[in-house]
Amino acid sequence: MDVHSPAPFAWNYCPICGQALHLHFDGESERPHCAPCARFYYRNPAPAVCCLLRDAEGGLLVVQRAEDPCRGEWSLPGGYMEIAENCEEAVCRELAEETGLRARDLHFFDVRTQGSATHGAVLLLAYHVETWGGELCSPDGQSALGFYTKENRPPLCFDLHRHLVADFEAWFQGKENMRRA
Ligand SMILES: [Zn+2]
Repeated sequence: MDVHSPAPFAWNYCPICGQALHLHFDGESERPHCAPCARFYYRNPAPAVCCLLRDAEGGLLVVQRAEDPCRGEWSLPGGYMEIAENCEEAVCRELAEETGLRARDLHFFDVRTQGSATHGAVLLLAYHVETWGGELCSPDGQSALGFYTKENRPPLCFDLHRHLVADFEAWFQGKENMRRA
């Protein structure tokens, strides 16, 4: 298998007892099933979060990715949720890990789904971080990061992030126009 194009995770063996799984009807469709454990296995989208931070000059915070996929390219700060945290905790952790900033005031903005090479699909929860503390610093001391306006922002590597940013900037502009009216 080509290691550079991973296949989505699949259920072939029971992760509890190690037996080979067989397709079995669960009342809705055929699913991988472990007879000894009497348990079905489901493929679901993996939840991830991303952070929308806007500075006073209209720049949006983007980071140069230190990890694959798309290492060296640019994206919104964010990542996969851990099992024991809620969405807001995931936003705070990812933001701190990737930018050194501490989220203070955050609000849910939007949710999207997209196919993923490794997970089959990702459910992305976007949060607007309105206020924050701390100083910007990159996780490895090498990757670049910063606030960039529409005019000077490096291209983002994920379609989902590009669409979210366009919608966020339109929403923010609408809010500003209402405030001024
Ligand atoms: Zn089993």
